[in-house]
Amino acid sequence: MQILQNYIDGKLQTPISGKYLDNIEPATGIVYSQVPDSNEADIDVAVSAAQRAFPLWSKTDITTRSKYLQKIADLIELNFEKFSEAESMDSGKPVKLARNLDIPRAASNFSFFASAISQFSSEAHINSNTTIDYTLRSPIGVVGCISPWNLPLYLFTWKIAPALAAGNCVIAKPSEVTPYTAYLLSEICIEAGLPAGVLNIIHGSGSNTGATIVKHPAIKAISFTGSTRAGKEIAGVAAPMFKKLSLELGGKNPVLIFADCDYEKMLETTIRSSFTNQGQICLCGSRIYVEANIYEKFKKDFVQKTKQLSIGDPKSEENIIGSIVSEQHFLKIMSYFSLAQEEGGTILCGGNQFQLQGRCANGRFIEPTVIEGLPVSCRTNQEEIFGPVVTIYPFHTEEQAIEMANATEYGLASIIWTQNLSRAHRVAANIESGIVWINCWLVRDLRTPFGGVKNSGVGREGGLEALRFFTETKNVTINLT
Ligand code: NAD
Repeated sequence: MQILQNYIDGKLQTPISGKYLDNIEPATGIVYSQVPDSNEADIDVAVSAAQRAFPLWSKTDITTRSKYLQKIADLIELNFEKFSEAESMDSGKPVKLARNLDIPRAASNFSFFASAISQFSSEAHINSNTTIDYTLRSPIGVVGCISPWNLPLYLFTWKIAPALAAGNCVIAKPSEVTPYTAYLLSEICIEAGLPAGVLNIIHGSGSNTGATIVKHPAIKAISFTGSTRAGKEIAGVAAPMFKKLSLELGGKNPVLIFADCDYEKMLETTIRSSFTNQGQICLCGSRIYVEANIYEKFKKDFVQKTKQLSIGDPKSEENIIGSIVSEQHFLKIMSYFSLAQEEGGTILCGGNQFQLQGRCANGRFIEPTVIEGLPVSCRTNQEEIFGPVVTIYPFHTEEQAIEMANATEYGLASIIWTQNLSRAHRVAANIESGIVWINCWLVRDLRTPFGGVKNSGVGREGGLEALRFFTETKNVTINLT
């Protein structure tokens, strides 16, 4: 049994209270490591270390900061297989997905911001011969980064890398459900020689460790990705303290399929956008609206393809669908099957636990599920399920499709399938979401702004947006007369 440690002041440290949480491999149900349940005392030590490191780190020239970030990226790549296997074991995702998506992206988050910081320029405003204004952007100080379990290292590094690149010192907390790759990252930061206190990785639960980070008066900004529920709690604490806040929250993303789409491409991608990572990606499409004249064909083909998805041990190369991340989340997803039926829905395929034998007999697997016949307003279509579950429904006009797409309190991402260029632009402009994919899904250029509207969050990550978030802006006016 491995005992994980916090990374504080450049060293691996045990939690001061000596308390730990169980870390379970979801595919087997076996406790395989212990995670520190850190409290205020650990966070105080980390914040002091970060405050000591800040004066030097914030003044380090960008080439030096960039070299540290690149070194971390290189070390993740060097340990690629170790990271991929750890991510799969911790989260239940197929190892193939960790290899193709999570770990490459974690490395590229560091290399992207290693380079982006050198492109981060400021504005000047020149008013004929009277004044020049220029904008200074300085690191904020000690900042907090809190991330969820669904893309563990991918989202953890998506916050840490820009925060460090901009010259901040960081107190970062991964999800207690998937702490392992964050722990491996600590080891890599030590190997990379990152100066002590610049990055501190503190493990523990949200209600204890996370909440303590959020309310700590010396932590000046919070970058959070997770549920809308937790985002609301965090905003409630951080906003009256006037902390800078970036909140990336839940979603209930619509997929709009028009009859004129490239059908085969749409079908193959919609399978991925529905069920990748067992549907546990905030960007998965979960409400699929299909133009009425191709609805029956789509339904038949989609259900057939869904049934073909191989479910099984995440360690196996063959499986597309791994296990659900935890017992608690498994029960939440399962509860929606009876609700959907009570609300008048018909389960076309799935709707059950998938029982494996052997190593994974105690794991929590769910069959990919397609439900039809549910009105837009019902709970199944309004609440984030965050599992391998989609609903399908026909629409007759473009206006109706947009109306249904917008009829939730969320607004993270949306996916549009059409070959009509005018319609694609029209729908994209009228849809209420921070991200729109037309004829594709999960294509990410790291320079682009990322985030949601409505209850899906506040603020944007990505590219220069992230560097702006992690800096304070000061305007300087020079009188030329
Ligand atoms: P969660 O909100 O339960 O936890 C996220 C993180 O916040 C964890 O590290 C947790 O320990 C911590 N936390 C929980 N309560 C806290 C509190 N009161 N104060 C401080 N920290 C707290 O979310 P989850 O179940 O880990 O992740 C799934 C959710 O994340 C889904 O809603 C999903 O849509 C969302 N998500 C959003 C995005 C996005 O970019 N918008 C990306 C991935 C996941």
